[in-house]
Amino acid sequence: MGTFFIIISMKILFIIDIDNTVAENAQRTHLLPNWEAFFKSCDTDTSITPILNAIEPYLKHSDIEVMFITGREEYDEVKHKTQMWLEQRNISGYPIHYRAHNEYSKSFIFKERVLSRVHKPEHKYVVILDDDEGIIKHFTTLGHTAIQVKRDNDYLDTCKELKTALNSLIDKLNLGKNLNSKPNLQGNLEVST
Ligand SMILES: [Mg+2]
Repeated sequence: MGTFFIIISMKILFIIDIDNTVAENAQRTHLLPNWEAFFKSCDTDTSITPILNAIEPYLKHSDIEVMFITGREEYDEVKHKTQMWLEQRNISGYPIHYRAHNEYSKSFIFKERVLSRVHKPEHKYVVILDDDEGIIKHFTTLGHTAIQVKRDNDYLDTCKELKTALNSLIDKLNLGKNLNSKPNLQGNLEVST
């Protein structure tokens, strides 16, 4: 019997926000402070096309695991409308985490709590894309790559920043994989099953 090592395929966990990151919600802010009505009108949101185009090549990338974390409250109607909205833009099959009805903590605390629940050993890097400055600061402090969605230059600066960050992490990840796939110093050959 030889020695077998189970090789976990390391990945980048890419966490995408929805409101004002991929979906423009300005047309329903007049409903506030009626939060329920505000959330339930989410099907009227328009696309933030430059950002949708920028994330598109990474959605099916084998080194990347995509998930959405949104501050939208988890009404069935909101969940259904959010899913339909994403599906209409060819984005489907990714987990979407919503804010629970009794979850009133600050956005960065809520999102960190979700991350601590879903974070797995194979997630070597975490990248978060969000428009909320508080979330960007907090996730940067935690040592993650946090990219803030900004309207400047019709989102072009954000798209460039995102592409540079993800491509560089993909390169780092693959460099690590190539090193790991060589026989180790004890002469055991690692066998992937
Ligand atoms: Mg947002």
